[in-house]
Amino acid sequence: MPVQPIVRLGHPALRTPARPIEPETIREPGIQQLIADMVETMQDAYGVGLAAPQIGAGLQLFVYASAGHPERHPDIPLHVVINPMITPQARELVYDWEGCLSIPDLRGMVPRHLAVRVQGLDRDGRPLDYVASDFEARIVQHEYDHLNGIVFLDRMRDLRTLGYTAEWNEHMEGEEGWDAGDMGDIAVG
Ligand SMILES: [Zn+2]
Repeated sequence: MPVQPIVRLGHPALRTPARPIEPETIREPGIQQLIADMVETMQDAYGVGLAAPQIGAGLQLFVYASAGHPERHPDIPLHVVINPMITPQARELVYDWEGCLSIPDLRGMVPRHLAVRVQGLDRDGRPLDYVASDFEARIVQHEYDHLNGIVFLDRMRDLRTLGYTAEWNEHMEGEEGWDAGDMGDIAVG
């Protein structure tokens, strides 16, 4: 059963800090199966990221990938990040739209750091250390928050930007001050 149900806001898994994974267990079938299930679940839901707590697994693990937005973002290949630590690389905060597979259909403006350094382990237990920027940095910060029981609503500075996608598309498109062009490649994870 590779595709797993995604838990929604109200499920305690989304508000419980995740536990680190013992590095020596990463290559064992249990963790490898969890990773495979998460990748399939993310793809099935058309998300660009998924954190283990979103399928009810309280472990420090997230996956992300993005494709198909050539005008605005380079394709982001699949990343598997275990026991992450992230460090902001820019003081500047940028606002953009986000949604969450655990909070279906809602969109809101969320400030994020423009770039973050990511350290952790990959799916084979090898060390990771790289800088993610722009859209990728947004995804990473969104997923990292899930490992700490934080959802994008907690990060919003102005709840008036919160809305349902359908109403959004009907009413907000083209409104001054709302970048409707962003709606096609919103970070949903
Ligand atoms: Zn999310």
